[in-house]
Amino acid sequence: MKKILFFLPLLMLSCTGKSQHMENRTPNAPQGRFLPEESRVLFQKGTERPFSGLYEKLEAEGTYCCKNCGTALYQSSTKFDAGCGWPSFDDEVPGAVRRQTDADGRRTEILCANCDAHLGHVFLGEGFTPKNTRHCVNSVSLDFLPVSLSAIETSETAIFAGGCFWGVEHYFLQAPGVLATEVGYIGGHKASPTYREVCAHTTGHLEATRVVFDTTKTNFEEMAKLFFNIHDPTQTDGQGPDLGDQYLSAIFYLDDEQRVVSERLIGQLRAKGYDVATELRPASTFWRAEDYHQQYYEHKGTQPYCHAFKNKF
Ligand SMILES: [Zn+2]
Repeated sequence: MKKILFFLPLLMLSCTGKSQHMENRTPNAPQGRFLPEESRVLFQKGTERPFSGLYEKLEAEGTYCCKNCGTALYQSSTKFDAGCGWPSFDDEVPGAVRRQTDADGRRTEILCANCDAHLGHVFLGEGFTPKNTRHCVNSVSLDFLPVSLSAIETSETAIFAGGCFWGVEHYFLQAPGVLATEVGYIGGHKASPTYREVCAHTTGHLEATRVVFDTTKTNFEEMAKLFFNIHDPTQTDGQGPDLGDQYLSAIFYLDDEQRVVSERLIGQLRAKGYDVATELRPASTFWRAEDYHQQYYEHKGTQPYCHAFKNKF
């Protein structure tokens, strides 16, 4: 047991790649960045409705992290379809998941070993896979990143909203040092929003691109500069022909360092005469968009209509 505890800190890889994301994130002190349905599961041991979660059917390769603290919990290679309505995994990242007897005295509850956020329950002996283990996890407790566990150690994430997410992702996908991108929705007041809901302008979400980049090859400043260079940050009512709140320009910063860099770059642009309308907002949950939106132009083989590169720095 002592040996396991000794190795725990080494194994606690954060999906955000930044240690400061671990600060002050305890189950008793949610930062106000979660919706009620997220807090109910994470901190009050609630359960999401079966077949309702974002990740139940997701088959993409990557790593599932703790929604609360960012610790890497499960690799996609251990995910399987148990038909139960929740994401199922037959193994955890070593040391990342803690087990305890559930309040009902029968089941075994699983929690993030780093922050004690509630994940779900683990069941043994059901015969689904050779490991005979099923971690039955609420989607809402997880944050999926499309990168491998080994890549997470030197990675950082950034979230940019700048109009139609198809075009923004297209440019980031080609940028040096970028490990992965995904498009989704952020900043609204509904969990697991759909494209239809976001387009109806009833949820308050913006279309956004989440970028995972290798910190040994690039940095947030380079990513943020690219963001300003591929869209018009002075447009106040959308981007190009796409008008409405879902297309507004915003950086959803993940820590103070990202906020400070963003403010500095906006200052540089203003000094050059750009009346920047880009909002800086603290990141809340990034809800991955439907599969058909991911790498849209790459799959379609066409070029963006609403974004173009122009160096503004
Ligand atoms: Zn955690």
